[in-house]
Amino acid sequence: MNQGPYVSKGYLAISLDPIHVGTGEQKMARVDKSIVREPSTDLPKVPATSIAGSLRAYVGLHYADRFMREGAGRLPSNCAEDPGMRFCMKPDCPICVIFGFPEGEKGKRGFMSMVQFFDAHIAFFPVRTMVGPVWVTSPAVLGGMVESGLLPEDGPAVELGPDENGLQTDVKGGKLNLGWVLLDVRAGSSPLSESGRRGLKGMGVPGVVLDRLVLVPDKLFGQVVNSNLEVRTSTAIDPFTGSSLEGALFTYEAIPRSTVFAFSAIYKDPRNFQLGGQKLTKEVGWVVENVEMGMKYWEFLGIGGMVTRGMGRMRVLNA
Ligand SMILES: [Zn+2]
Repeated sequence: MNQGPYVSKGYLAISLDPIHVGTGEQKMARVDKSIVREPSTDLPKVPATSIAGSLRAYVGLHYADRFMREGAGRLPSNCAEDPGMRFCMKPDCPICVIFGFPEGEKGKRGFMSMVQFFDAHIAFFPVRTMVGPVWVTSPAVLGGMVESGLLPEDGPAVELGPDENGLQTDVKGGKLNLGWVLLDVRAGSSPLSESGRRGLKGMGVPGVVLDRLVLVPDKLFGQVVNSNLEVRTSTAIDPFTGSSLEGALFTYEAIPRSTVFAFSAIYKDPRNFQLGGQKLTKEVGWVVENVEMGMKYWEFLGIGGMVTRGMGRMRVLNA
């Protein structure tokens, strides 16, 4: 964290269930319900909009007495007394101040969010191999973790050259099958330095993940991840009877359980802003505290889609 008009903080989270953040569109794809991906790398991710949307809902849920008003979704979302409005616009409101609101409601001006999220990217991805489960990562992933302050400068210990098609790991075995990709182990050491390992352990990354890291070249990382996603078949449920709809089978993909994600957030100090002509008095710590309290709800109520089918629970390791 750095102090100033804003505070930026990196987070690590581990999925307790498969995570499905759908694209919401049916197109020609490997499955009926595909998940959101980063266009440039084709890597699945949890987009910042899903992070912000679910945290906004959970912060509202936490203050249920204040926000338990009829909302449009499955969670309370309105804080306004006036049933014709969605936002109370009060200077101490955890929803209005932290998450902002759009312009135009009864002619009122909008207010910017005091927290900005970035997409959650896969940091360590579990793959079943002939020597048991391993977690794959890549040089670019580790570099990104250094940038967001999750790893110290000397945290990565990458020995693989950029053009090598091999693996780097201290997991024993000369070759490893990552799904259908069979690769040679070229460097028999962990992709993390001792200080990198210690830092992540201190942030709550399970030892088994850190002991079984496998570094994959950047150009193969997307392929390894995409060929090891969970794909399940399910039946559509009739919302009225609760029974399955005849012949309504569909397939969907999800990021598997025990994937470690990295994401960051930038928090602004409300005292630098005015709301409705009034200077705000809440401090940046209040913003962080409420947002991280919302993150605790991911552990029980989940993020993304299919949460009623045992998907979506995620634990933030360093909140
Ligand atoms: Zn409000």
